[in-house]
Amino acid sequence: MKPAVFKPVVVLVGRPNVGKSTLFNRLTRSRDALVADLPGLTRDRHYGEGRVGDHPYIVVDTGGFEPIVKEGILAQMAKQTMQAVAEADAIIFLVDGRVGLTGHDREIADRLRKSGRSVLLAVNKAEGMQHASASAEFYKLGLGEPHPISSAHGDGVVDLINEALLEFYPEEPEEEVPENGYIIEPEAPAPDLDGEKDFRPAIEHRVRLAIVGRPNVGKSTLVNTLLGEERVIAFDQPGTTRDAIEIEFERGGRQYTLIDTAGLRRRGKVFEAVEKFSVIKTLQAVEASNVVLLMLDAQTEISDQDAHIAGFVLETGRALVVGVNKWDDLDSDQRDQIKRDFERKLRFLSFAKVHFISALKNEGVGPLLKSVNMAHAAAFARLSTPKLTRALQLALQKQQPPRKGIFRPKMRYAHQGGQNPPLIVIHGSALDQIPDSYRRYLETTFRNEFSLAGTPLRIEFRASK
Ligand code: GDP
Ligand code: GDP
Repeated sequence: MKPAVFKPVVVLVGRPNVGKSTLFNRLTRSRDALVADLPGLTRDRHYGEGRVGDHPYIVVDTGGFEPIVKEGILAQMAKQTMQAVAEADAIIFLVDGRVGLTGHDREIADRLRKSGRSVLLAVNKAEGMQHASASAEFYKLGLGEPHPISSAHGDGVVDLINEALLEFYPEEPEEEVPENGYIIEPEAPAPDLDGEKDFRPAIEHRVRLAIVGRPNVGKSTLVNTLLGEERVIAFDQPGTTRDAIEIEFERGGRQYTLIDTAGLRRRGKVFEAVEKFSVIKTLQAVEASNVVLLMLDAQTEISDQDAHIAGFVLETGRALVVGVNKWDDLDSDQRDQIKRDFERKLRFLSFAKVHFISALKNEGVGPLLKSVNMAHAAAFARLSTPKLTRALQLALQKQQPPRKGIFRPKMRYAHQGGQNPPLIVIHGSALDQIPDSYRRYLETTFRNEFSLAGTPLRIEFRASK
């Protein structure tokens, strides 16, 4: 049975200041605590995951795509935004109920209407306003019934997201949503101690590998190199273009599923990329994978698009390997220089192994795949409570967390609360006093102790009862 892994993508559109990023944060808030101490990149997020009840989704805030351009609103609704609109599963168009209808709103509405996609119109900042009066003038946009909401307070947001997802999850989520609000469920709660037996050993999982990167970095070349040597077991090409393609193959006795992002099509014996880059296809492939191979081009600078993709991978917590491709036609001076440059720029992905490869000449591909396997094993590592607790105690002996006020945080024991990425839950008291630097110290300790290369690692502090 195939898991239903492709999460619907909800795209937020609207002029600046209507509250898109406030809504985005609310729709993805469960993640905030977990990614809080990742460096710079992820703070300015445009892609995130959320879940209402047991219905997961991806949110894209198009406000982050383009810098504000002088040439008016349509210049801002540039290509990427329109592409996101074209590929979205659901579109939420946000307007400002306090400011009222503006010319820019009308222009955006025109664009959206021309896209032929169905759009949910949300009138934000409607807290404390009569819903009828907040909405009235927005009927003129011709986008159907306006939904008054307050992103800042949460009013109406659950209904809105449920409606946006209705087509994908025909039933309302089981859980009762408390009245007035609140709202987006945090991640599925980590299992308790005895939930540990639910984890299967890593070896039983197949490696679900998403190869992501900008167009022309060499993704389909790598796929062909990989498959050229191996037996393709199944090539699954569903009818609609929106469905991702999965290719199963075997190598060294291991089972892999490649999850396509490049719009691969079979041409004779080889695969070719036939579609332009798709942010959304990339997001969905990352979501559907357990290990991501981020491909970069040694011969071009790292771009914003590379950074965005990397940021989303970090956000999802998938295991990650970086392949810097086209390493073949470079001389050794160039190689030294490029290596230094990439290693410096990729510091924020410090947990990931970086390989310099040639997909075309099949150089470095074997070691790269080895790192994929290691990252996969690390992502699904099983960490027993006694071992984790011992590692924690050793870390504490070496270095106590700093005292803050009269309380010194007390950490009693640790257990594993999840896989892919490994989640280590530390139980104790006064744990909200633990600074980020100490959290990082613990992370490094666990990482080394359990050889967790290639996967992000999350640490959660929980008050003992
Ligand atoms: P964006 O530019 O569309 O991403 O808008 P922001 O999310 O940055 O919000 C713009 C401003 O509107 C900020 O000052 C927010 O605090 C404010 N804001 C956002 N949502 C609400 C809301 O529901 N009610 C009120 N009163 N203010 C809001
Ligand atoms: P995709 O869009 O990411 O799937 O990229 P392709 O696999 O279509 O490759 C884009 C171009 O880069 C093609 O002309 C490839 O022949 C070339 N290319 C791919 N891998 C390598 C490599 O390792 N070295 C060199 N020199 N060129 C490569």
